[in-house]
Amino acid sequence: MPMIDIVGGGVLGLALGYDLIKRGIGVRIWERSRELGGLMGRTRFAELNQLEVDRYYHAILSSDRTLMGLFDELELRSALRMTTTSMGFYHNGKLHSMSTPLDFLRFPPLSPIDRVRLGITILRARQVKDWRALEEVPVVDWLTSLGGKRAVEHIWKPLLRAKFDGGFDSVPATYIWSRLVRTTDTREKGGAVEKMCFLPGGYAMLIDALAKAITARGGQITTGATVQQVRVAGGRVRGLRLADGEVESDGAVLTLQTPIARKLLPPEAAEVSARWSALEEYLGIVCMLLVLRRSLSPYYTLNITDERIPFTGVIETTNLIDRQFTNGYHLVYLPKYVSPDNLFAQMDDETLQQSFMVYLRQMFPDLRPEDIAAVRIGRERYVEPLHPVGRTDDIPSFVSDVAGLYLVNSSQIYPQLTNGESAVAHAVKAAAVIEQAIEEPVATRQAVAA
Ligand SMILES: Cc1cc2nc3c(=O)[nH]c(=O)nc-3n(C[C@H](O)[C@H](O)[C@H](O)COP(=O)(O)OP(=O)(O)OC[C@H]3O[C@@H](n4cnc5c(N)ncnc54)[C@H](O)[C@@H]3O)c2cc1C
Repeated sequence: MPMIDIVGGGVLGLALGYDLIKRGIGVRIWERSRELGGLMGRTRFAELNQLEVDRYYHAILSSDRTLMGLFDELELRSALRMTTTSMGFYHNGKLHSMSTPLDFLRFPPLSPIDRVRLGITILRARQVKDWRALEEVPVVDWLTSLGGKRAVEHIWKPLLRAKFDGGFDSVPATYIWSRLVRTTDTREKGGAVEKMCFLPGGYAMLIDALAKAITARGGQITTGATVQQVRVAGGRVRGLRLADGEVESDGAVLTLQTPIARKLLPPEAAEVSARWSALEEYLGIVCMLLVLRRSLSPYYTLNITDERIPFTGVIETTNLIDRQFTNGYHLVYLPKYVSPDNLFAQMDDETLQQSFMVYLRQMFPDLRPEDIAAVRIGRERYVEPLHPVGRTDDIPSFVSDVAGLYLVNSSQIYPQLTNGESAVAHAVKAAAVIEQAIEEPVATRQAVAA
């Protein structure tokens, strides 16, 4: 049986490992952290009766077909719960529902004609079948041509500014296209209600089930194992160097974000490293998680158009997740996407918490200190891969010029947004390519070189 080493035990590494093993390829997964899951891992509150929740929020949509198929295979489907959620906007100091088409037609900052144009934007986006036509078009130009300047100023620009830490000039139209297609997919016939799903134990339930399925089929998973370097000689992978020694290997798949993956490449793979470096910018995130004794709003997602408020949105996941699974507490996540030089990326936890609280109290003046049961600050340097206008050709391929060396990460997920559905679908696609490369190594390398 051929054997592959997978570096990284996040959802991508595990979904890939599971699919490879189903294809008859043996896998060993190496994860630096003591726990699996990466960005989809969990956090614990010992002070709240050992409450365990997702470190970050992770939506599952009723339209996530690949994910649903995986839930079936892993026998998680019966545990999955589906419910209706709503979305709001915080605009001019007030909360506005934006969950139904009627809400859109009532949204105050837009004139009746702008509201109609906003509706047209959404309909037109859904009609675009060939995303390549949008790849060269800056998102703001596209949105202005469809919906007019007011909708861009009052809705799209605040959303883009928050999502891209202000730097959205070179974001292609494919970004909003993907987003509109994904969110409108969740609306029921007639366009009224958004359906979202959750697992009672959070995404960690999927991570655990994948790990169990892999080990049950003979795969090996080692946590607390940092891969320091991939050993390459004679144009092919020979092994992995770990802190406590080396293991021999014929094939290594790096599922780490590109800048981290490149650090594992030896001088013998310098050309591959140069190729991967062509597109390796990511935004990071700081995210404050509040465990509350009361709800803040009825919305799962509350978007914010007020540019003074630093966080991207208010995500109250317990408007989806039943609170019997959170020991009765309400969970509110305040994310902020950040480039490394952003002030909030550099702030210490206490200052960040105080700053976010000032703005949260401005939005919800009746939030009292005794409503807050616990707070956690999460920080990640590499979360959102950036794909500037017209750079699709720079996306690194799965297969490299070094035999047995593969890259499978979120920077290759495009034009889809990075999320659980696209990550699992990406893993399945990559597994097929890797299987073929193992079976026909020379032909595949020649094809890649061409
Ligand atoms: C705030 C936030 C909100 C999000 N919202 C959503 C959402 O609503 N829906 C959704 O589905 N997705 C969402 N995502 C995105 C989602 O979390 C990611 O796309 C996904 O988890 C990425 O998985 P991955 O396996 O590619 O990377 P990671 O989860 O980063 O996994 C990489 C793993 O590699 C390990 N590693 C690193 N270096 C080494 C080494 N040298 N040796 C061994 N192991 C190593 C790391 O410890 C990590 O576990 C969100 C993310 C964040 C942060």
